[in-house]
Amino acid sequence: MRYVSTRGAGAPAAFLDILLGGLMDDGGLAMPESYPQIDAAELARWRGLTYPALAFEILRRYADDIPVGELKRIVDNTYTAEVFHCADITPVRELESGVFIAGLSNGPTLAFKDVAMQLLGNLFEHALAKTGSELNILGATSGDTGSAAEYAMRGKRGIRVFMLSPHQKMSPFQTAQMFSLQDANIVNIAVRGVFDDCQDIVKAVSNDHAFKSKYSIGTVNSINWARVVAQVVYYFKAYFAVTQSNEQQVSFAVPSGNFGNICAGHIARSMGLRIRKLILATNENDVLDEFFRTGVYRVRPSERVQQTSSPSMDISKASNFERFVFDLVGRDSQTVAALWRQLDRDGVFDLSATPHFKRIAQFGFVSGSSCHADRLQTIRTVYRKYNQLIDTHTADGVKVGLEHCEAGVPLICLETALPAKFAATIREAVGIDPPVPYGLDGLEKLPQRFSVLDADDAAVKDLIVRSCAG
Ligand SMILES: *Cc1c(COP(=O)(O)O)cnc(C)c1O
Repeated sequence: MRYVSTRGAGAPAAFLDILLGGLMDDGGLAMPESYPQIDAAELARWRGLTYPALAFEILRRYADDIPVGELKRIVDNTYTAEVFHCADITPVRELESGVFIAGLSNGPTLAFKDVAMQLLGNLFEHALAKTGSELNILGATSGDTGSAAEYAMRGKRGIRVFMLSPHQKMSPFQTAQMFSLQDANIVNIAVRGVFDDCQDIVKAVSNDHAFKSKYSIGTVNSINWARVVAQVVYYFKAYFAVTQSNEQQVSFAVPSGNFGNICAGHIARSMGLRIRKLILATNENDVLDEFFRTGVYRVRPSERVQQTSSPSMDISKASNFERFVFDLVGRDSQTVAALWRQLDRDGVFDLSATPHFKRIAQFGFVSGSSCHADRLQTIRTVYRKYNQLIDTHTADGVKVGLEHCEAGVPLICLETALPAKFAATIREAVGIDPPVPYGLDGLEKLPQRFSVLDADDAAVKDLIVRSCAG
């Protein structure tokens, strides 16, 4: 499998070549030259597979430069009942006839990002061991990504994590998850500022090319291709869980921010899985809903991003969206490059009058948005009607999913976090505290380990230099 850039420049690369990188050299994103097509016989065989066996079948088609024995070992070590608290890894449960929740959030940090990040940690370790090199991961987080990355990389040979977060602005549970880690290779940096300050520091350090190369600075952000492709697996798994035959169609409802999760659904569909609709749900920050309804993609200035009760979807632009647009415009990289030039210049592009937008229905996408009141109402209804608690992001997906539900087509809503992470809103909705699972109830009382720094890239660089020397 060769990977090309959505903007067309540069030579095709192999999976391991793009694994540790971020953007391609021309500023585009890595995409496989084509999607492997899964025929009926293969699909029939996959139906009976366990999660790790299915993950191996899918990943070996994309990561064909990792020896199969090694890949199998990596996948088997990643998707275990110990790490994901259940043998099915992503168990599917029924709310009512034809409406399901796929539980993607049973990993160590109680959010779906663990599914991909746990694999990434093991892939990184493999790649670094091969070359004998080291990697310093520098990231910014407002909550879920940072903790998923830290739990995936803790104790890994050759890897250090420097994670910036806005000082005293994460939820108590999220803070405790990250700051209670005592592993020597995890460095938590609480920045006196907001999330955007953290992100600016990561950009400034990454733009210092001499520093970046001397200290092997890498990232694990949502544009990482391995993260996207790891998420393809649970679309197949959930499909098999709710259907009896591979001719049936299902629809998925996906709470979306940076478009990574639903991009994986688009890829599963492109590989031949019978997905009828990909139902994209946003919160009040509705950049993507606006595009799928109107054909206009308009990024928001960061001061216009609202802080909502589904905070992991509070985005100003969707970093993986370019991957879908590449397919939408018939994989014409010149068109993609021109659109993103326009986006950099004007902050907007408009496909409404183009043949591309007329083809959007062929890709199965529909969308909708959800606000705080909708979220409370949905959490309440699901609790009263089905005696189940869902988190605020999942509630956005359920709300929009039900609006697009069709008779005879099973609807699978992806559960992207557990309610324990967002206790305040759960209390507001139903008046009770969500249960804290897997023996994590004492987490907030554990000793915490972090450094507080000013929003200053020199101070962060200095800390990196000192950590690498020690
Ligand atoms: C990251 C995240 C999302 C958004 O996923 P994308 O892949 O960025 O679209 C939704 N819900 C939760 C809980 C998340 O952590």
